[in-house]
Amino acid sequence: MGRIDLHIHTTYSDGTVSPSDVVTLAHQAGLKALSITDHDTTDGLPEGLKQASRLGIECLPGIEISSQFQGKETHILGYGLAWNDPTFQDRLLTLRQSRHARNPEMIQRLTDLGLSLTYDEVKAVAGSDSVGRPHIAQVLLSKGYVSGIQEAFSRYLGNGGAAYVPRDLPETTDVIAWIREVGGLAVLAHPTWIHNSPLGVRQSCEKLKAGGLQGLEVFYGTHSSRETSEYLNLARRLDLLITGGSDFHGAVKPDIAIGVGRGKLKVPDSLLDPLKQALGSKRG
Ligand code: AMP
Ligand code: ZN
Ligand code: FE
Ligand code: FE
Repeated sequence: MGRIDLHIHTTYSDGTVSPSDVVTLAHQAGLKALSITDHDTTDGLPEGLKQASRLGIECLPGIEISSQFQGKETHILGYGLAWNDPTFQDRLLTLRQSRHARNPEMIQRLTDLGLSLTYDEVKAVAGSDSVGRPHIAQVLLSKGYVSGIQEAFSRYLGNGGAAYVPRDLPETTDVIAWIREVGGLAVLAHPTWIHNSPLGVRQSCEKLKAGGLQGLEVFYGTHSSRETSEYLNLARRLDLLITGGSDFHGAVKPDIAIGVGRGKLKVPDSLLDPLKQALGSKRG
């Protein structure tokens, strides 16, 4: 069985490895295919696709968009989308601008707590316009305010942390519609985020499917084997496409590697054909 990895971040959002280098890593790991899925941006795709065609590895265009469903932050992956569409790009730009409204508020809270950092320092670390909490965490780490990225989230930046500010997020069903408008497949990422009980996940997935959701990220870097089999059953029961990936971020999540996650992840390449068929049947 060949393996794939359909959930990878790069320097164009909050990953620390460039698009060409993630493609090279995927190739070196022997993967059959990968997808670059940066937060709220497709700007890393041209570089990644170029390197993929140079190395002869398949690269499915992707994105991960943050949204809210029933008050909970919910991430939707989009695959095979016609990402150059101007209306779609305008929507993404608005989402990235909302990051620029929120980040300075978190930095102000950190400053109020006596920590010294500026948004310019955070933007310099980000190096792109999809700026997020992991970039703030990197600055806190480099200044010695925390001993690791995890501590930055648990003390300050995570939901409930001392400097946490919620972000103005689009509704999940709108995000699903935007992805489908440009011919993409809309997939729920890391389903454990939306509910901590299997029944809660199931009920949410049923509602999201009624709202246009087409797939579920069954295989994930941090899923236990029990979670994987639960989500596999759920995807089959609801007739959702099955996807999987590591959620690789490079140095900000050093325990997650491309293709293998924390070591046990195996996303079978047999998932690719059904995804391509679903994409093809929409185009045809
Ligand atoms: P943002 O997009 O600015 O809200 O940041 C969210 C991103 O931060 C997520 O997509 C993860 O990559 C990362 N993140 C969220 N919670 C944690 C955590 N507890 N530890 C490390 N990274 C996290
Ligand atoms: Zn991220
Ligand atoms: Fe995510
Ligand atoms: Fe992700």
